[in-house]
Amino acid sequence: MAQRGGSRPIVIFILGWGRSGSTILDSLLGAAPGVASLGEAMYLARRGWLEQRLCGCGMCVPECPIWSAVAGDLQPQLEALGGAAGVEQLRQQICGRKSVLWQSLARARPYARDGASSNERERRYARFHEAFYRQASERLGAGVLIDSSKHPAHAAAIAGAGDLPCRFVHLVREPRAVAHSLSKRKDMRDGSGREQMRRTFVRAALSWVLFNRICRRMVAADPHGIRLRYEDLCARPQASIQQLLESVAPGLAPVPITAEGRATLPVNHSISGNPSRFRTGAVEIRQDNAWAQEQPPWQQRLIRALTRAEARHYGYV
Ligand SMILES: [Zn+2]
Repeated sequence: MAQRGGSRPIVIFILGWGRSGSTILDSLLGAAPGVASLGEAMYLARRGWLEQRLCGCGMCVPECPIWSAVAGDLQPQLEALGGAAGVEQLRQQICGRKSVLWQSLARARPYARDGASSNERERRYARFHEAFYRQASERLGAGVLIDSSKHPAHAAAIAGAGDLPCRFVHLVREPRAVAHSLSKRKDMRDGSGREQMRRTFVRAALSWVLFNRICRRMVAADPHGIRLRYEDLCARPQASIQQLLESVAPGLAPVPITAEGRATLPVNHSISGNPSRFRTGAVEIRQDNAWAQEQPPWQQRLIRALTRAEARHYGYV
């Protein structure tokens, strides 16, 4: 039985926009001893407990031994917020469209880490998630947790109003590749029968700018924050993962990745995310460059024009 209150893990938030390779980064980091992948943990209440979708282990979240135990541990916190539906309502208020636009426009407030500028809603959200990470750490036997929700408002609320050591990793990918991926139909494969989010290339490009701008500024304001390009992760997976872990959680044993980019992924308990989270065993890390052949040149030019100012910060222009 876990102790009430659990342990005090380091939480690594992968930040960024969709289709940037966060699931493979999450899985690779989770292969390190003492580290556990949570996947997109901000969907625990909605997709996990309410919609009963599949955990990375293949069982539906309410039946997974880890998440059913954590639900039991969190009964007092869940009751205080009105159950899983109350947690989901709070998430929608924190991570809604207005909140993201506001973060992009306002400068200092959302990035403060002293808690003084957090509002009561953010404090309630942070308190619930702190209890969740502590119990997850205890139940998974991991001192470092990876939350690949990517959403800057989710991470900013927890890091700003909470008490756990939180680290930000901004993962960014070439905008044309992201827009191409977001144009494709992809099944979630999590038992819901739903598809992954899709966007027109214009909306994909504008969201890429908005989200990466917020994440870039969050990481710049964080002394532990680091940025990683998807292209560099694929070109040098071993060095990228090692460097990242040494920066954010020093002293961990290395992730077993060969110089050729082959890794062995363990079974994980990821709550939600890209279907590649279900891959276990030997995998080869390769960059997906399909966009360069499949995306019409006129679309590529338009995406470049829309994203140019932000893309400069990452060497894509
Ligand atoms: Zn599971």
